[in-house]
Parts: sequence; structure tokens; C-alpha cells
Amino acid sequence: MSGIRTPIVCLLGHVDHGKTTTLDKIRGSAVAEREAGAITQHIGATEVPLDIISKVSGDLVKKDKFKVPGLLFIDTPGHHAFTSLRSRGGSLADIAVLLVDVTDGFQPQTHEAIDILQDFQTPFIVAANKIDKIPGWKTNKKDVPFRLSYKNQEKRVKEDLDNRIYEIVGKLHDKGFNSDRYDRLKNFKDNVGVVPVSAKTGEGIPDLLMVLIGLAQRYLETELEFEEEGPGEGTVLEVKEEKGLGKTLDVILYDGLMKTGDSVLIGRADEPVETKIRALLKPNPMEEIRESGSEFSKVDEVRAAAGIKVAAPDLGSVRAGFPIRVIGDRDTDSLKEEMKSQVEDVVIRTEES
Ligand code: GDP
Repeated sequence: MSGIRTPIVCLLGHVDHGKTTTLDKIRGSAVAEREAGAITQHIGATEVPLDIISKVSGDLVKKDKFKVPGLLFIDTPGHHAFTSLRSRGGSLADIAVLLVDVTDGFQPQTHEAIDILQDFQTPFIVAANKIDKIPGWKTNKKDVPFRLSYKNQEKRVKEDLDNRIYEIVGKLHDKGFNSDRYDRLKNFKDNVGVVPVSAKTGEGIPDLLMVLIGLAQRYLETELEFEEEGPGEGTVLEVKEEKGLGKTLDVILYDGLMKTGDSVLIGRADEPVETKIRALLKPNPMEEIRESGSEFSKVDEVRAAAGIKVAAPDLGSVRAGFPIRVIGDRDTDSLKEEMKSQVEDVVIRTEES
């Protein structure tokens, strides 16, 4: 059966422009919705389901109009993660958020991030962050949609923000992108939406989630189609020693299904190795760790998109960015060839950066 998988989102931007704070806020605001299935903590990623996005965004997102099940944010923000994490088609991330501090404007790594996004042809939006630092800005309520905050600001404060946004729009134009404040845009395919946010107060964060899911729904639907029972494909996020498990791989699964006992090929510096999945592990929530003393629990299978820990023998010389693929009924030799080029690509890119 085919379905629509969760898009994978990565955050980029100049140092100190708010990548980590934004991720924390997204996790925090979703966690605040203390209802079943608020967010799911994956290995190396955080999933915000459509229900929650719909809830935090008030009437901005009508969930019955969406097929995209939610958003999967990669927990490691930054350019290195973005360029070294590859999938078959290019970057592992389906969409990106470029953080720009509105009080600091474009900086060297902002330019660099745009070059990378252009190179990978990854659709992105801009989060114009730290609006709370604009002189005279008043935060009446946290975590509210942007328009509610904006309408309460004095005229000069509104103008100040608008000017800063136009500066960003001008810089994006120099880079070859048309853009505007997101609520003044109709077409996000040919234009970059700029979403004013404060990662600190949460103002505009509902809009950020809404624009991301809207973009995914409208323009990525065909790319996000996947065979739910198809052979799993993923990318190694990290190689880690775990007590009692030995060497394990933290993997972002971006396609298909992965099951315990599956035969897989894993990229290595020399030649992909064929091995068997001994266990698939997901992180336990805090309460369960306290009760059971164990950080992980086993699952039989996992479907894209997801972050999962893989225990398997023969993991020597596997590195971040390398591919892992369930063989299924596919031809091992041609799979190996495909994977070798991904390994080479990652090795070259990580040596460059
Ligand atoms: P990163 O390097 O891009 O991950 O940036 P961080 O998320 O670590 O943020 C850098 C600094 O800016 C930290 O001290 C944050 O608390 C602060 N910061 C981030 N977002 C905001 C914001 O929206 N408003 C304010 N006032 N400070 C922020």
C-alpha cells in the first residue's frame, strides 16, 4: 500500500541566530499540549504530528485538508549535518528552515546556508527570528500566531519589523529568490516565505509549523509518496557504543519499512557490508526510563520517516551519512554499487567541510 510519509525538516543558519532555541521551542510547545500523542521523541529527531500543529495553530491549519501526517525535525541543526546527511535523491531533509536573526541580518553562514540549499535544491522557508528583541516589542502572550502579536504592536514597531523583513527580502533577491512575509504570499513554490518568529517567546512558532506543513502538502506530495511495505532505506546519523548492545547506529529512515531480522546492506568506507538487524530500538520517555532503568525499548518494525537505533553485527568503519538499506527482493550487487557512490559523496563532502 502506498501512503504519504512525514517530511524530514532540517534547521540551518548563522551561529547564534536561534536554531537550537527554535527546536527546543517546537518540542516544548508540543509537549505543553499534554494529550496523547503530543510529540514522539525519535532517535535523533522529533516528530510533531498534524493534530498538534492544527491545535497550536488554532484555525490556521484545518487538519482534514492535509494528508501529510506531521513533521519530523532532525535534532542536529546546522550545515554540517545537512550536507553530510544524504538520501538517494540528495539531501536527507525534504524541507529546510533558514534562521535569520532580524536584529543581526544576513551573516556569512546565512549566505553559506543559501548556497547549500540552492546546491541541493531543497525548498526552504526563512524564520526571521528574535522579533521580541525589536525595540518596543511587546509580548502579551506566548506561543501565539504572529498576527495576534503583530496587531498589538505600536505603529513604529510594526514599521521597524517590516523594514527588517524587507532587508531580508532584498538579500534573498540578491541570491536569486523572490520572497515576502509569508502572509503576503500566495505561491510558496516560486517564492520563499519569511515567517517572523521569536524562538524565545514562541510568537510566530504556530505559523512556522503551519507554513512548513502547508509547503510539504502542496509541493512535496509526490516526493513524499512511499510504499508502506517497501524495503526500508535510511541514513546513518551517528555511530554509538551503547551499554549491553555494543556498537549501534542511529538511523533516519526515509523510505519504506524496516523490521528486526531484515537483511540489510550498510555502507562502509571500503565496501557495503551485508548484515542482519538484531534489534530496532526507540527511546523511552523519561518516566519509563525511571521505572525500567532502560533508555530504549525494542520494536519489531518501523516505517518512514522515523529516527531509530539499529543494533547489528559488523558495524566497523560505518560513519555518519552512510546509507543503510533493506535488501528485500532486490539485487544485492546493484544496490551495493548505488550505495558506494553515496559513501564516496559523503566522504568527499565531509573532507571539504
Ligand atoms: P544557534 O547557534 O543558531 O543554535 O543559536 P541558539 O539557539 O543557541 O541561540 C543563541 C542565543 O540567542 C541564545 O542565547 C538564545 O537564548 C538566544 N535566542 C535565540 N532565539 C531567541 C529569540 O527569539 N529571542 C531572544 N531574545 N533570544 C533568542
